[in-house]
Amino acid sequence: QMTKEQVLDWLKALAAEYKAQKEYLTGLDAAIGDADHGINMDRGFGKVLEKLPSMEAKDIGAILKDTGMTLLSSVGGASGPLYGTFFMKAGMALAGAETLDEAAMQKLLESGVEGIVSRGRPVEGDKTMYDIWKPALDAYTQAVQAGAALDAALDAAVAAAEKGLEATVPMQARKGRASYLGERSIGHKDPGGASSCMMLGALRQSIG
Ligand code: ADP
Ligand code: MG
Ligand code: MG
Repeated sequence: QMTKEQVLDWLKALAAEYKAQKEYLTGLDAAIGDADHGINMDRGFGKVLEKLPSMEAKDIGAILKDTGMTLLSSVGGASGPLYGTFFMKAGMALAGAETLDEAAMQKLLESGVEGIVSRGRPVEGDKTMYDIWKPALDAYTQAVQAGAALDAALDAAVAAAEKGLEATVPMQARKGRASYLGERSIGHKDPGGASSCMMLGALRQSIG
């Protein structure tokens, strides 16, 4: 079970993580984009951190929805609407929730990933954050179906995400700014994939 306090801890941890990784993520984006991904993530989750006190009394669904709306309104570029929709859709699917069990976490991930798909229309192999979220969701779902508890199922998701991120290196980008580079996008990690891996890793850690 993931408690509401742990959801709030996750968001706090993300603000700290993206502040710490700002230059690393921006460096990845410098290679195949416009060198702002770390700045975007730090700005967005910095705003979420500012708004956390106003979210504390709400249920998990409302907290995730507020997070999504904050990201939508404070982060420009591709990643703002993508992560914004992820959290909005996840929040709408979990309206009223006070804790998350294995099935509720599956809803969170499934709805969030559906949000990314509806926004960006990525398919596997496009070298986007979807190449992290899709294998992570599949691994999570399989683990839960096999009877795994929340922590073990999230371990499986994180492992699949890390593998997915490495797999973006040889891909040629077909979505987003990196696609403008054509073959020159080959040989680099996808920046949004890297920030997505961090998001899942922090989620896993927040449940202890
Ligand atoms: P921008 O490219 O507008 O500067 P960011 O640098 O913040 O935005 O985010 C870039 C990341 O967004 C990419 O690394 C990729 O993971 C993700 N991305 C871009 N376009 C799409 C898309 N159509 N579908 C899914 N993800 C996308
Ligand atoms: Mg960028
Ligand atoms: Mg940009």
